[in-house]
Amino acid sequence: MGKVLVFTEHTNGNLKRSSMELLQAAAKSGNTVVAVAFGSHAGDVTAAAGHNGANEIYVVKDASLDSYNPEAFTANIASVVEKVQPTILLASASATGRDLFPRVAARLNTGVASDCTELNISGDTVTATKPMYSGKCFAKVNFENSPVKIVLMRANQLPVAAADTSKSATVVEHAAAKPDLKTLIKEIVKGASEKLDLTEANVIVSGGRGLKEAANFKMLSDLADVLGATVGASRAVVDAGWVGHGMQVGQTGKTVAPTLYIAVGISGAIQHLAGMSGSKVIVAINNDPNAPIFQKATYGIVGDAFEIVPKLTEEFKKALHH
Ligand SMILES: Cc1cc2nc3c(=O)[nH]c(=O)nc-3n(C[C@H](O)[C@H](O)[C@H](O)COP(=O)(O)OP(=O)(O)OC[C@H]3O[C@@H](n4cnc5c(N)ncnc54)[C@H](O)[C@@H]3O)c2cc1C
Repeated sequence: MGKVLVFTEHTNGNLKRSSMELLQAAAKSGNTVVAVAFGSHAGDVTAAAGHNGANEIYVVKDASLDSYNPEAFTANIASVVEKVQPTILLASASATGRDLFPRVAARLNTGVASDCTELNISGDTVTATKPMYSGKCFAKVNFENSPVKIVLMRANQLPVAAADTSKSATVVEHAAAKPDLKTLIKEIVKGASEKLDLTEANVIVSGGRGLKEAANFKMLSDLADVLGATVGASRAVVDAGWVGHGMQVGQTGKTVAPTLYIAVGISGAIQHLAGMSGSKVIVAINNDPNAPIFQKATYGIVGDAFEIVPKLTEEFKKALHH
């Protein structure tokens, strides 16, 4: 059996759920699972990595890796790969993963399958499924002539079982590579939202042009607050300037796969569906019974969003004891 290297992502030392998915999938494969964590807080990830199936964790504890820098991250992943010699490398298809791993693949002269929704590992053999043409068809990807098979998985695609706190990972402190950087991040200005990023959210309440005007998104925030959800949007309302582009779901926005996606006043254009049709349960609220969104919806509510959403908020409040 070979080694599977898992690039973990964390927020100030809290392991992201998407990384738990990868560690648990790697552990199920029977290979040795080696995690890697970057940044000043990397040492805080070791326990959670072990609980989720890592046998070993490479900690590259260096402040130069606190924020994503393509050159620094590429050099450091390459350095860890050289040491660990994995046959498979798993990472999330997050903004960081999508930018970083094509660079890593080029550096290692190996293959990368990005934005995958299914993963099968049997020994050293990996097969991944990747949606193409906005989800109109699916490609099965195998690797040839790839010393390290790199797979980037979309978040929320793989199951996460309860962490096994009896397990732990051997910690290996790995010295940071310090390449000459051509770019440097001076400052990061955070947005106002403290909500979970859309791609990580388990529940999303999304609004479209049916909401009529920007101020009516308040109605969705109220519902989202009760459900612990993140608010998303269609492109029509982003283009109208009602909400920021960071909230856009779809082909030219974010790809999401929450357990529950509530689409309010969204018609269900193919470009919107491309970003959310992987959701486990889709609830559509629309006053047009012929809206295309109903063809994808698990549950459809035909009616006026302005009547239905406040009622749902009240009922969920009662049911969830708020
Ligand atoms: C290259 C390209 C990329 C694109 N990328 C994206 C993308 O990433 N994401 C995206 O979303 N779109 C994208 N689009 C745009 C997409 O084609 C649609 O125009 C857009 O999704 C429509 O947004 P909408 O559903 O909010 O608006 P509309 O299509 O106008 O739908 C509004 C819906 O609200 C309903 N409604 C109205 N009043 C009420 C009410 N009171 N109660 C309940 N329902 C009501 C209506 O029946 C209607 O179905 C892209 C388009 C192109 C060409």
